[in-house]
Parts: sequence; C-alpha cells; structure tokens
Amino acid sequence: MENDCIFCKIANKEIESELLYESDNLVVFRDINPKAPVHLLIVPKRHIRSINDLDNKKDKEILAEMLFTAKDMAKKEDVNESGYRLQFNVEKGGGQEVFHLHMHLIGG
Ligand code: AMP
Ligand code: ZN
Repeated sequence: MENDCIFCKIANKEIESELLYESDNLVVFRDINPKAPVHLLIVPKRHIRSINDLDNKKDKEILAEMLFTAKDMAKKEDVNESGYRLQFNVEKGGGQEVFHLHMHLIGG
C-alpha cells in the first residue's frame, strides 16, 4: 500500500467504489471518466507503478490474470464480439496519470 495512491485505496476499500470483480490479486471497476460506453480498469491490488516496474519472472502470473480477467469482463459486458481495446499507458509521455498499474478495457 502506497500512501495517497487512489487505486491502492480503492483496492483496500478505503474509498468506496463499485467493484465489478475481485480476486485475491486484482479488482475491476468502471473508469470515472469513461471514453466509451464500456470503460473498465483492471487493477492489481499490489502497488506496482507501471509496466516498467514489472519483474519479468515474478510478475508473469499477475499479468496473465489481468489479461484473462479482461477477456472474461469483455464477455460479461457484452463487447467481446463487437470488439474492444486493451490499453496500458506507461509513464507521463505515454499518457499515464495514475501511477498504479492498470489496464483499460474500452469498448461498445
Ligand atoms: P491513465 O491515464 O492510464 O493513468 O488512466 C487513469 C484513469 O483512471 C483515467 O481514465 C481516469 O478517468 C481514471 N480514474 C481516476 N480516478 C478514478 C477513480 N477514483 N475511480 C475510477 N477511475 C478513476
Ligand atoms: Zn497504489
């Protein structure tokens, strides 16, 4: 848990938000400022700053779980056939604004 990290607070339920899905390792909730009818954020509970901070060996499972969760959530939200985008913004120049790793699922 990183102080003053909004996604840590959501994952720890210190800030109320509607979780669409939760596992031991991650949470899924709607983006507060959606760019499409379906805009979800898939967020590891552990504080990791960005893709750059992933460990190639130790973090394989969390990355895989993020992707498989995205696939399942796309189906739940009924955009799996119409199509969707999965997006990571990495650091400021890549458009990252919240420095706690998250994957956008954007569709519909
Ligand atoms: P990024 O630019 O990749 O860092 O994306 C951060 C995303 O988090 C933006 O799309 C914001 O709209 C979203 N966001 C920021 N605060 C919240 C919040 N409290 N609940 C849900 N989404 C949020
Ligand atoms: Zn955090």
